[in-house]
Amino acid sequence: MQRLTKEVAVKLDQEDPLQQFKQEFHLPENTYYMDGNSLGLLSKRSEQALLTSLQDWKQLGINGWTEGKEPWFYLSEKLGAKTAPLIGAKPAEVINTGSITTNLHQLLATFYKPEGKKTKIVADELNFPSDIYALKSQLELHGYEPSEHLVQVKSADGYTLSEDSIIDALNDEVALVLLPSVLYRSGQLLNIEKITEAAKDRGITVGFDLAHSIGALPHELHDWGVDFAVWCTYKYLNSGPGGVGGLFVHEKHLGRKPGLAGWFSSNKDKQFDMDHDLTPAESAGAFQMGTPHILSSAPLLGSLDIFQEAGIEQVRQKSLKQTRFMMNFIEEELAQLGFTIANPEEDQRRGGHVSLIHEEAASICKALKQAHVIPDFRSPNVIRLAPIAFYTSYTDLYEVMMILKDIVKHGKQKKFKNERDTIA
Ligand SMILES: *Cc1c(COP(=O)(O)O)cnc(C)c1O
Repeated sequence: MQRLTKEVAVKLDQEDPLQQFKQEFHLPENTYYMDGNSLGLLSKRSEQALLTSLQDWKQLGINGWTEGKEPWFYLSEKLGAKTAPLIGAKPAEVINTGSITTNLHQLLATFYKPEGKKTKIVADELNFPSDIYALKSQLELHGYEPSEHLVQVKSADGYTLSEDSIIDALNDEVALVLLPSVLYRSGQLLNIEKITEAAKDRGITVGFDLAHSIGALPHELHDWGVDFAVWCTYKYLNSGPGGVGGLFVHEKHLGRKPGLAGWFSSNKDKQFDMDHDLTPAESAGAFQMGTPHILSSAPLLGSLDIFQEAGIEQVRQKSLKQTRFMMNFIEEELAQLGFTIANPEEDQRRGGHVSLIHEEAASICKALKQAHVIPDFRSPNVIRLAPIAFYTSYTDLYEVMMILKDIVKHGKQKKFKNERDTIA
């Protein structure tokens, strides 16, 4: 593969089929934003979608639920249907609701059914804490001791997992397995299809957390037979801080009663009958609970329009190309400066960000910020850099690499403390 020189970058930008999308985003001034995997930037379409809902409220009051330009009563279902192509789902299998953590609680309450000796949950030791907290509290609600009933698959290197050791853990005492699609620190993409197949063979319910893969790469959840999935929308989906999350429930489970019911779990035609016996929706909508957070959902509508136009395959192609350039640069120019790459290098095993390990990661991140690059630090020694196909140009990427090299080559990180800030 060619090297990313300035000339190559300019040429690739000219040929980039996604180039027109950059102008659709509000980009922080004089800044290279490499943290779209933590909080995506605001697009003009998302801004407009939010303003439309505000306008509906302003002009229609309560009638906005049914008569607004984007009627709020159907917004979560509409967003679910527009999300479906990003994960290979049928529209009825997806709903926009809750957050990763609340959706996980809902789906564990629905799908974790310990029976006989099948009582254990398999997870991994590298997942995001919130997912593990949810698993432990659900076990406790069932009267089980997490130290005995939660099996966390170990990582050999502290950054990645082996699919084979996950599959080895799926024995006849396991009721459910929950894993991330892409690991949040190292960016490893697990083989969802292979793990799902192994779980199915053993009669184990399988769920995935798509936080770091939705909006970054395509999925085939329906065809793979994944039972359920959860995700947030404020990372690669650019829905804004606290943007409402989403969930997937496979068609074969639709019609099932939600573990945690509320009036928005209802079949929509019956909801206002106000009956005390719930008739759940026949779709993934059944896994909603209370009134949808319209003002934190609306921006996603604009953002999903952009994905629909661009196509997730194109997004993935550019992302793979950009992260490949970064890895090559790091191996050639930065390896001797103390950097190693934590993410797997193969295309089919890495997500949308490059994960760099360096002893002085915290102070390097501070120096990057001073040089107008927004990175992402994960304790104790990981720098995550995510080029975003919609708004990171090849020229931007080249500049970021040059800035990083300049910092470390001249020890510019030394004037910062090598410890994390409150939010990192
Ligand atoms: C971002 C992230 C979360 C955050 O959960 P919320 O409920 O949306 O706050 C949880 N799990 C993983 C794996 C994440 O990456």
